Amino acid sequence: MLKLVILALVVLYVSGQTTPAGDSDGDKGSDPNTTTDGGKLTVTFEEEEYPDNPEANSGYYEGDITQPDQRNAVKYSQLKWPNGVVPYLIHSSYPSSVKSNILTAMREIESDTKHGSSYCVRFVPKTSHDTNYIYVVPQDGCHSPVGRHSGRGLVSIGQGCEQKGTIMHELLHTLGFYHEQNRYDRDSYVDIHSSNIPSSRQSDFAKLTTSQMTTLNSPYDYGSIMHYSAYIFAVDKSKPTVTPKVNLAHGQQLGQRLKLSTQDVKRIQTLYNCPVDTNHIVSPTRTQVTVDCTFETGFCNMIQDSHDDFQWSRRRGPTPTSGTGPNADHTNGVGYYVYTESNRHANKYARLKSPNIAAGTHCVSFAIFDYGSSMGQFNVKIEGRHIVPQTVKRWTGSQKNQWVNVKITLTSPATWDLVLESHVGSGTHSDIAIDDIQVYGGRC
Ligand SMILES: [Zn+2]
Repeated sequence: MLKLVILALVVLYVSGQTTPAGDSDGDKGSDPNTTTDGGKLTVTFEEEEYPDNPEANSGYYEGDITQPDQRNAVKYSQLKWPNGVVPYLIHSSYPSSVKSNILTAMREIESDTKHGSSYCVRFVPKTSHDTNYIYVVPQDGCHSPVGRHSGRGLVSIGQGCEQKGTIMHELLHTLGFYHEQNRYDRDSYVDIHSSNIPSSRQSDFAKLTTSQMTTLNSPYDYGSIMHYSAYIFAVDKSKPTVTPKVNLAHGQQLGQRLKLSTQDVKRIQTLYNCPVDTNHIVSPTRTQVTVDCTFETGFCNMIQDSHDDFQWSRRRGPTPTSGTGPNADHTNGVGYYVYTESNRHANKYARLKSPNIAAGTHCVSFAIFDYGSSMGQFNVKIEGRHIVPQTVKRWTGSQKNQWVNVKITLTSPATWDLVLESHVGSGTHSDIAIDDIQVYGGRC
């Protein structure tokens, strides 16, 4: 899948720039980086957009499994790696950044699953004595055999699959794990919306049998790195294909690719006959979390601007006007999102603001749904008393009929506010929605 990367090399001082369509309240806080009047500071940023489930685009069984005939990995010991040792070879053509992600993913799995100073599983460079090993190669997409391969097992980490979490997902296939939603008991936990799944992909949602797999007596895990996200393989990408039967806790999202869940760690330890010890799980360290909202219970600390034309609304299910806006939320396909209603609001705009965000480098992450025949405009802006106001990203007209993930890494020399500004188009098919917004310190 193509990844759109927009790198903004904005270093020029823009003296005459004003804030279009509604003035900022400005920054009310003090800031040590305050400059003199007329010396406003400039924020630099880079933006990227990407789909959920990069593994789903590889065209293999369940998207990314290359051995549909050997579906017994977690059941039979011959498909486990002896002593938990996985010899590997990494293709020499990878840029150093991707090779670094591959090695980091290996080290994190090792670290999470160890007990005291003893490792449970290890990825070690292949030697001339190793006849069974994995060869990590940049083929089309991301895919892996399940369990130990006889001879050389190809694990593809191709374009779009270079993130650490996606690599960890593939390496768990290598260790012997299937996708969580294919467990034989999954019907008690998730709904599969078959009418939105193409006939060619129906078999990918078949349940494994008790003779094909074991759950290792671990509970169903919505947060597993082996679970697919809500919109996997959807025909109509505005509607989910897998949804949870229960409300998930805040922060639980189907298809997360950030880290091993506690259950993922326990299962590796159980499968490889190691002591179960989850004290070593590495959590992604996120500091300066200013915004973290799935809109399930409200707007969190996001602020409805009072200087605009109308307000953002919370919504569950489809927007009132069909043919514009989402049919379900991004998080898990069953919850809330926020949107700007186009009906009665033609050519008007609504602004949603963050609290003050400190100077420094931050990641802004959210999902956007921006589709309809009379779609207006959606702007991501940064404002603040001591910075040059900028439009970081602008979408004009109709985009995709699906949720799209957006990540923006910003570096600001002074306190700033994030502004999400929706301009309704000339007709009623102009609903714009967002979900799952996070702002935290560090790069995305
Ligand atoms: Zn997979």
